[in-house]
Amino acid sequence: MTEKALKQYLEYLKLSGIQDIFYSKPIIKQENPELALQQKPAETIFTNSDIDASEQLKQLEENYKNCQNCALWKGRNKFCYGNGNPRAKLMLIGEGPGADENASGKVFVGRAGQLLTKMLSAINLPRDEVYIANIVKCRPPGNRNPLPEEKRSCLPYLLEQIEIIQPKLLLLLGKVAAETLLGITGTMATFRSHTHLFQGIKTYVSYHPSALLRNQGWKKYAWIDLQNLQKDYDSIS
Ligand code: URA
Repeated sequence: MTEKALKQYLEYLKLSGIQDIFYSKPIIKQENPELALQQKPAETIFTNSDIDASEQLKQLEENYKNCQNCALWKGRNKFCYGNGNPRAKLMLIGEGPGADENASGKVFVGRAGQLLTKMLSAINLPRDEVYIANIVKCRPPGNRNPLPEEKRSCLPYLLEQIEIIQPKLLLLLGKVAAETLLGITGTMATFRSHTHLFQGIKTYVSYHPSALLRNQGWKKYAWIDLQNLQKDYDSIS
């Protein structure tokens, strides 16, 4: 691990509130002592196409918010379409809203969402620079995995979002998102072992933040994924 990577990793651990398992014996190569953890300024200039994308997403959310294409609408308080930068270079895709999201209509605002915000910030990515959505837009009861028919009926909304936003990179959070979009079954280890292509977009798979809250030991793997993603992100920014 380079010194820069180690520093970022420690920052990530501090932000995500866990003890560092590498810290006692860090392997530091000294040839890259570049240290600054600089915050990138958020995008401030909007072009016509940004406004178009933003308007389109708003309009579509309005059109779909009373959707009854599957049974999940019965437990819906708020439809959770997605949030973030309509021209994001990176789009994150989770599984489905939980209780906090169902109450607020915003994705990833509960404990998992707070961890996700910290994970992004550890790779210098303000959350409002990316766009975040889910495989299903309404909360599955008791946070169970969405059923095949629920995923099937909701998927067109997500595909449309991807088409409008045109991200350069995708990050699929967890097995449900990975299996649904990549159309293959696998373990997290196999999904994470390489990047994928989804409709021509370079796609990373990493742990869902809820899984990281349940198993802190996986955070070190998520950190590796985030660092790889960061390199790609920086190269296209
Ligand atoms: N988990 C998800 O997959 N999505 C959310 O929006 C919140 C929790």
